[in-house]
Amino acid sequence: MRTPIIAGNWKMHKTIAEAVRFVQELKAGSAAAGVEQVICAPFTALAALAEALKGTPIALGAQNVHFEEQGAFTGEISPLMLKEIGVRYVIIGHSERRQYFNETDETVNKKVLAALKHGLKPIVCVGESLEQREAGETAAVVRRQTEAALAGVDAAQLADVVIAYEPIWAIGTGKSSTAEDANETIAIIRGAIAERFGQAAAQTVRIQYGGSVKPENIDSFMAQPDIDGALVGGASLTAESYLQLVAGA
Ligand code: PEP
Repeated sequence: MRTPIIAGNWKMHKTIAEAVRFVQELKAGSAAAGVEQVICAPFTALAALAEALKGTPIALGAQNVHFEEQGAFTGEISPLMLKEIGVRYVIIGHSERRQYFNETDETVNKKVLAALKHGLKPIVCVGESLEQREAGETAAVVRRQTEAALAGVDAAQLADVVIAYEPIWAIGTGKSSTAEDANETIAIIRGAIAERFGQAAAQTVRIQYGGSVKPENIDSFMAQPDIDGALVGGASLTAESYLQLVAGA
């Protein structure tokens, strides 16, 4: 059985003070059992959040990582630096990073390998653009991205890997995929993993859906057999909505 995982992606939102206030509000609410919870915050808020989240069931996540341990990479953050703060998860290959910051299948793969080597759990984002969807390329795109991201990973490491299927046209647009369509594509992703690593190992990977998930529609996604949780942007920004998402999972 795979434990569902709800991860908030705050993107470039929240100062340190706002992040800490979010956790205070969260602590006043009730937490749901049986769901793994993650908040992926901007780098600047991570240290303060590591402290604020102590005693809560919420794991800390980052939104990017460099693949080298150290060196002349101005502006980058290494896996060791994230580990030192207490980060446990890291989003890799989000479509905004692929689109605006030249993230490629190759850098995604290097980052996944580096994260796993240093004990960070990657949340690897894959997903098609609207153009690719309309051209009937969804399956080919997610297969290619998944296979590339996991090149060189051991089957035994797959239980630490989370894949987030995020159709690009559904991110931040208010247009979510139907739960049935998302489940179908997620089954294709799991099938690609099974071909490469075997059925048993593929069953250990958690695969989330992401793209305009909110408290009102989370149940429909969670009701699908292949969907193991959600990666949520906009609706993870208030403690009230975050708690409703976790309760809905
Ligand atoms: C995301 O940023 O990963 C995301 C899914 O955003 P939103 O929930 O706002 O569509």
